[in-house]
Amino acid sequence: MVVRFSSKLALLFKADLESVTDVAPADGYEWHFKIQCNSCHEIDPSWITMNREDTYDLANSRGSANLVMKCKFCKRESSAQFEPTPPIKPYTADDSGRFTKMVVIDCRGLEPVEFEPRVSEGWRGDCSPYCADRIGVSYVKKRMKLVRFFTFWDDTFAIRYVAYPTSPPQSGWMAKGAESGTRFDDIDLSEGEWVEYDEKSAVPVSISNIEAKFQKA
Ligand SMILES: [Zn+2]
Repeated sequence: MVVRFSSKLALLFKADLESVTDVAPADGYEWHFKIQCNSCHEIDPSWITMNREDTYDLANSRGSANLVMKCKFCKRESSAQFEPTPPIKPYTADDSGRFTKMVVIDCRGLEPVEFEPRVSEGWRGDCSPYCADRIGVSYVKKRMKLVRFFTFWDDTFAIRYVAYPTSPPQSGWMAKGAESGTRFDDIDLSEGEWVEYDEKSAVPVSISNIEAKFQKA
């Protein structure tokens, strides 16, 4: 029997804020991580998404987690769960330029090694059985309307899944004008930078030099 020790990792976030404060992801934000397997130590090359609002059943035990995945190399199951903290503590103007803890993740059998403040680009997708197996069919079913059809693929009879969004995902980041209190929604930080103009206080606002790292919590 393999005992999976859990370890808690904090995601530390850093950015330079210009005339904005209270930077935080929306409630339904899809966190994008590169994930390393603790069994075989391989890093999955794709971005794996994790959402605080999603829960999936663990295959081999009772309980659930925000992320349940199967390592594509050694096939071991691992999981991760955001700490049940109240709403995420926003990154404030006072934090600007230094790392602060944004979320804590309880990891079992895996470790996030990289984070990027990406925004999910729509949900229309095409999912092969391999991919469905890897990310979990339950995931696809929960977030998307699943249409199944058959196709011939390399002379093999294969099932393809085509998924459509059931609702627009809540994505992006939010911020507030430091002086004006102006609300900015749906901020896209995927380019690592965001620039806008705050009409109320007539100043440019920006979020730049974004960095993130993980640390034992
Ligand atoms: Zn593995």
